[in-house]
Amino acid sequence: MLVDADRLHIAIQKSGRLSDVSRQLLKDAGLRLQNGRNALTARVENFPADIMFVRDDDIPTFVADGVCEFGIVGGNVLEEFRLSSSEPAIEVVAPLGQARCSLKLAAPEATVWEGSSTLEGQRIATSYPAIVTRWLAEQGVRASVVKMNGAVELAPRLRIAPFICDLVSTGATLEANGLRPVADVFDSEAVLVRTTRDLSEPKRVQGEALLSRVEGVLQTKD
Ligand code: ATP
Ligand code: ZN
Repeated sequence: MLVDADRLHIAIQKSGRLSDVSRQLLKDAGLRLQNGRNALTARVENFPADIMFVRDDDIPTFVADGVCEFGIVGGNVLEEFRLSSSEPAIEVVAPLGQARCSLKLAAPEATVWEGSSTLEGQRIATSYPAIVTRWLAEQGVRASVVKMNGAVELAPRLRIAPFICDLVSTGATLEANGLRPVADVFDSEAVLVRTTRDLSEPKRVQGEALLSRVEGVLQTKD
């Protein structure tokens, strides 16, 4: 892929819960994308930027490495990245107030819950081990964290772990799996992120222009 040195690169989720939110934000900011949905990149017709369509989990890495100057990602994915990386060169420039969800600790309905001390010596399955480990330390509880990359809600039934910590918006998935939330671990929303690496002067100026457009969009939604 040819990377144009004077164009900004903005990483957004290719397909998933953040892709419509991200596309809509860029559209509202007046950016017109050229290619269709299946391309890896799209050129913006009327602004010096290219869009890269990637897995959401890769967005913090791309932005922190400076491969992309901007990205749109869930606060949950960003926080997990920050906690597991030694020098995360990434900052939030605008919380977007969308794709809100919470990382919640949950257990089978019959589990007796007497506060976080219930977790002492137990196992917790999650896709967010760093966030859960920090939360356990804050609670002063010792428990082991088992990383799963998906289908976390199956862990209790599969006897992988009696507790899970997973993203919840309506709670329907938990309920469908006979689980109930017992504690809130992290509240998340989609955020616009920027690299903290030095940018060339043209890119810095374009970045400021992009940010003020986004801020303009967010103000009309307040
Ligand atoms: P990818 O294929 O890009 O890795 P994914 O399956 O990991 O996608 P999605 O399920 O599309 O990710 O979720 C992306 C983000 O949307 C989450 O990280 C979170 O910030 C947000 N989100 C909002 N509501 C929910 C929900 N109910 N469950 C999961 N994620 C949610
Ligand atoms: Zn993902």
